[in-house]
Amino acid sequence: MAIQSIRLFGDPVLRTPAAPVVDFDKELRKLVKDLTDTMMEAPGAGLAAPQIGVGLRVFTYYVDDQLGHLINPDLDLSPEIDEEGEEGCLSFPGLSFPTPRAVRAVAKGFNMHGEPIVLEGTDLMARCFQHETDHLDGILFIDRMDPKQRKLAMKAVREAEWSGLSAPVIKASPHPTGGKAL
Ligand SMILES: [Zn+2]
Repeated sequence: MAIQSIRLFGDPVLRTPAAPVVDFDKELRKLVKDLTDTMMEAPGAGLAAPQIGVGLRVFTYYVDDQLGHLINPDLDLSPEIDEEGEEGCLSFPGLSFPTPRAVRAVAKGFNMHGEPIVLEGTDLMARCFQHETDHLDGILFIDRMDPKQRKLAMKAVREAEWSGLSAPVIKASPHPTGGKAL
């Protein structure tokens, strides 16, 4: 097990676009394992490499008992949008908000051995693929909210006990939340 600290909102790494993976080597397999261990321990439904301070296009997911990872993802989204689904983020501990997302997503990319894979997701799985791929572009779920919801979310962020902490001392909320943290 190699559990890493999860970076919190405010850390510049979360706003930095990640680089495509070029070498499918032992180090990449260690990164996938670290992401998986850290996500499972949090616990979360997804985790992207920038959230543990690594600027590579890699994420892991654990949704509906399906555990996996995707490297260099490319998404095709359905036009149908779920406006109301609650979404959380491990970089915003304890908070979840309605966030509009496409209902279905097809995610193309590679596994850690460099083999091309295609994943199809609906509902929470599709939401997870979109949330994690956004992390790889330096985009956070607050950016996807309508302006009114974002204002409410930012107020909750400012009032959160972890807000403004430079060190990621809190990894997850001690309280169960309605939304899934990604
Ligand atoms: Zn997140």
